[in-house]
Amino acid sequence: MGENSAMRIESAVSLKSCNTFGLPAVAATLIRIEEPADVRRVVDHPEYGRAPKLILGGGSNIVLVRDPSAVVLKMEIPGLRVVEERADAVIVEAGAGESWHGLVQWTLDQGLPGLENMALIPGTVGAAPVQNIGAYGMELMDRFESLDAVDLVTGRTVTLDWRACRFSYRDSLFKQELAGKSVVTTVRLRLPRPWRPMLGYLDLQRKVEETGITAPDARQIFDWVVAIRRAKLPDPAVIGNAGSFFKNPVVTAEQCRDIIARDPHLVHYPMDDGHFKLAAGWLIDACGWKGKSVGGAGVYEKQALVLVNRGEARGSEVLTLAQAIQESVYGRFGIRLEPEPVVVG
Ligand SMILES: Cc1cc2nc3c(=O)[nH]c(=O)nc-3n(C[C@H](O)[C@H](O)[C@H](O)COP(=O)(O)OP(=O)(O)OC[C@H]3O[C@@H](n4cnc5c(N)ncnc54)[C@H](O)[C@@H]3O)c2cc1C
Repeated sequence: MGENSAMRIESAVSLKSCNTFGLPAVAATLIRIEEPADVRRVVDHPEYGRAPKLILGGGSNIVLVRDPSAVVLKMEIPGLRVVEERADAVIVEAGAGESWHGLVQWTLDQGLPGLENMALIPGTVGAAPVQNIGAYGMELMDRFESLDAVDLVTGRTVTLDWRACRFSYRDSLFKQELAGKSVVTTVRLRLPRPWRPMLGYLDLQRKVEETGITAPDARQIFDWVVAIRRAKLPDPAVIGNAGSFFKNPVVTAEQCRDIIARDPHLVHYPMDDGHFKLAAGWLIDACGWKGKSVGGAGVYEKQALVLVNRGEARGSEVLTLAQAIQESVYGRFGIRLEPEPVVVG
């Protein structure tokens, strides 16, 4: 689109199909962001410039509790390209509105391995840095080069590198100080050369053992990750959900020992800094939540970490269920579970 083209502004838009939980909500105003200049047009807009905004990607990490009062900016910026080939890495650039999984597939089609462990994570490229997505032993920050973001007050574009984004486990600057204030428009990823497989994750080791393929290529790892994920997680197209509903809590060695003294089967993983990561799904399951429901919201039978929409769930029911789980896990283990999705409303 050219500089003078108009933005697509729509009224009274149902968001039910715009969030993977399938929760009902209506946006009074929804603006489709199809190029970075659209964000600046929003900032300069006489009516919407100063209104609160909700940035919406694929809606796979949000819980819509009620109709958003904010103007919804629906991220639809396209574009996939190789921008630089260096001796030690290839840099690819993607528009914020591209599908993350589509990007992973595209890189493999170009013969550019490096993102395969993060295959099939739902959502858009622009949201990937927001919570530093990760799976199967890899996080976005391991492959991140830089991003462009537009400030929703000043309309200024900044380019932020790895350090500036302050990534940590399911977190970044965009979930903290810049939450809702800055729109990621373009993301650049660094695919290291030479490529090395990352097979440390237990489920992938099992695949190596099962198949006898000890030196898989990136396409093979991609296929394994897709198969493992399909077997474990409900497909949002069939059962509404937002993936893992809680972060895996991190505790001190002492806390971990205390809990093990009471619950010897506690699932825990040592971290490099001496802390331990606990499996939130195990804690929830241990409190007897698997298969339980509040209204239309339920705990997935196969994986207690995933809350699902059993039919006509409302966001408030998802929230009530989540709070009840938090209370019971706190009551039994003294651990406060932190939700992973962003609660809107
Ligand atoms: C079945 C399933 C499995 C999942 N598995 C994983 C997993 O393995 N690992 C993992 O990390 N996550 C996982 N998730 C969560 C989700 O896929 C990721 O968090 C994803 O990055 C969200 O992308 P989205 O475009 O849907 O973001 P949305 O849900 O639309 O938005 C999430 C947040 O990011 C903000 N945001 C979105 N786009 C932008 C932008 N361009 N600029 C600034 N802010 C923005 C929104 O305002 C909101 O606060 C899973 C979800 C589902 C449903």
